[in-house]
Amino acid sequence: MKIVVAGGDGFCGWPTALYLSKQGHEVAIVDNLVRRKYDEELRSNSVTPIYSLKERVAKWKEKTGKEIKTYIGDLNHYDFLAEVFRQTQPDAFVHFAEQRSAPYSMIDREHAVYTQQNNVIGNLNVLYAIKEFAPSCHLIKLGTMGEYGTPNIDIEEGYIEIEHKGRKDKLPFPKQPGSFYHLSKVHDSHNIMLACRIWGIRATDLNQGVVYGLHTEETKLDPVLANRFDYDGVFGTALNRFLIQSATGHDITVYGSGGQTRGFLNITDTIRCVEIAAENPADAGEFRVFNQFTESFSVKELAEKVQKVSREKGLDPEIKSIENPRVEAEDHYYNAVNTKLRDLGLEPNLLTDDVLREILETALEHKDRVIKENVLPTVTWK
Ligand code: NAD
Repeated sequence: MKIVVAGGDGFCGWPTALYLSKQGHEVAIVDNLVRRKYDEELRSNSVTPIYSLKERVAKWKEKTGKEIKTYIGDLNHYDFLAEVFRQTQPDAFVHFAEQRSAPYSMIDREHAVYTQQNNVIGNLNVLYAIKEFAPSCHLIKLGTMGEYGTPNIDIEEGYIEIEHKGRKDKLPFPKQPGSFYHLSKVHDSHNIMLACRIWGIRATDLNQGVVYGLHTEETKLDPVLANRFDYDGVFGTALNRFLIQSATGHDITVYGSGGQTRGFLNITDTIRCVEIAAENPADAGEFRVFNQFTESFSVKELAEKVQKVSREKGLDPEIKSIENPRVEAEDHYYNAVNTKLRDLGLEPNLLTDDVLREILETALEHKDRVIKENVLPTVTWK
């Protein structure tokens, strides 16, 4: 298949592009490299040294003989995107290319506006480009489990059957997101749903949980292929952040009671889920939603897992509760359905002690690169 990976220089996109290339697909990366600029803006970095995209794809070619084309540009620039579509004529467009940090979107008005413009308009441009240049292209769009929030009922996969005043319908599951970033994903979902209905576009919205891990078979082939590993209070996701805290002798800081429960998945499963979606495209006109996570944990459970594995390594982090910078429920019901990807063949890689140890070892190897002032949260929702 001809597959475009938009956001292919990022944490999920880079290993996905490599894997799909290894599987024999013709892969092209689209990215405006803005994630590297956020690091400059926040005076932060990836714990693992990451090479330029040019060096990365050259090394991939050297190691495997496979070519990944790159298009450096912004989805918000329609002329650029149109040219990408003309040249690549993709069968599938995997869309990772958005500003993906909730805290970043909550810094101030400018960051909220930037996030929604970047994400919503970029995605709208992708929908128009598919309509104009590749109408049968399958859009595989990364959404988030955070679109649903934490309702006091089970979370279904995209839709819920409702009986109201004697009548029944299958309707989009209600969305109660908790940040302007998460809201941008809800707006995307609505725009995609309309485009499917009126233009007959085929789309899969992958409502992804929080991703942990960093290495894949492909990124391990050479240090130049290494994936990024974020740990700061703005871009670091919970488990990766806790492992870095432990490796650098910092307390593991849990926001509030730590009862916040979310869906999680290993980066290797992110990649496999995208492959499954690509191999089983949505029908023309279908807006398909998969909940893409494999296990649910509370933040406190994650902290305890990290503490256990750290102790076996001779580290002794304490788990500390700090004031929650977010406005969110800390103790709540959480039961989300995630059967559709498994029905299509996903075999989850679960969060075992071995998995935790491998990430911790990488954190320890590069711990001198950690900028300690960046670890604690600086952005508050209020
Ligand atoms: P990332 O920031 O590491 O990667 C995103 C990439 O997209 C970056 O390389 C960035 O430069 C690029 N990009 C952003 N805006 C762009 C634009 N307008 N034009 C072109 N390129 C652009 O993020 P990630 O962690 O790899 O996440 C990828 C996707 O998965 C995002 O849409 C995110 O919302 C979603 N997601 C991620 C997680 C997670 O835990 N990482 C969880 C749920 C959903």
